[in-house]
Amino acid sequence: MSAKVVPVADVRVYSIPMRTRFRGITVREGLLLHGDAGWGEFCPFWDYDDVESSPWLASAREAAFDGWPAPVRDRIPVNCTVPVVSPERAHEIVAASGCRTAKVKVAESPLAEDRERVAAVRDALGQGAIRVDANGAWDVDTAVTAIRELDRAAGGLEYVEQPCRTIEELASVRRRVDVPIAADESIRRAEDPLRVALAGAADIAVLKVAPLGGVRRALAVAEACGLPCVVSSALETSVGLAAGIALAAALPSLDYACGLATLSLLTSDVTTTPLRAVDGWLPVPSRAPEPDAMTEADAETTARWLNRMTNVAG
Ligand SMILES: [Mg+2]
Repeated sequence: MSAKVVPVADVRVYSIPMRTRFRGITVREGLLLHGDAGWGEFCPFWDYDDVESSPWLASAREAAFDGWPAPVRDRIPVNCTVPVVSPERAHEIVAASGCRTAKVKVAESPLAEDRERVAAVRDALGQGAIRVDANGAWDVDTAVTAIRELDRAAGGLEYVEQPCRTIEELASVRRRVDVPIAADESIRRAEDPLRVALAGAADIAVLKVAPLGGVRRALAVAEACGLPCVVSSALETSVGLAAGIALAAALPSLDYACGLATLSLLTSDVTTTPLRAVDGWLPVPSRAPEPDAMTEADAETTARWLNRMTNVAG
């Protein structure tokens, strides 16, 4: 990892509206950073403090200054993502995606609505895998009830992602349901990511490059936790998505579709060569695409991000 101080001239800031409110945000902001190896993206959400944002900067610097390990595959299977939308809209999203795996956001709406959304996704998907993501919102008893009902509505769930907030709760839920449990937030916000595996709390690890501090660091986490891994995005532009693809491409084995087809959640991108999935697959580029179609953020937003990067770099 490079310890280089980042010159301001090599930095560009974007601000892109989301298509649907997602993770509580309606506009995605971030900063692109250029170095000898190409472009990297620094875009921690604003609820991350400077310490939590530090791995995000390390990840952007890895992309910009070091590049990534060699890939072992040249395309990545991906899931489509269904936000909290009506059953009709969920059906449209899945049918239009061409993906054979769908990930459905749940727990932000009443269980009856989650059930109808999942059933609509099954209808649109035919055969294929459905996973749900609760983003840690349920308590243990609620999770057990919800998982059983959603498993029925789906005709079988592939897995449930982060049903509860803590590792201990994940372990409790895991003992009471047959559906596999995937850990997401528990891994990227835990002080020791490997605690998840040690606690018997999860069957699958969801890895996100930026919060883990880059592709190499994420590969080390994958190896140490010993669980099958799914690589997901953090709602980046194509520049940041390329780092997630680099991780998925470098993992020794990849048994599940990845959550990297998230560009469709943004209303625009920063490049004329976007990393968009075709028929459920993403290509593996050798480096991040050039931000050659980028709308620069306004002066206030740009100043806010430059200041943030300075603070995080500490
Ligand atoms: Mg998740």
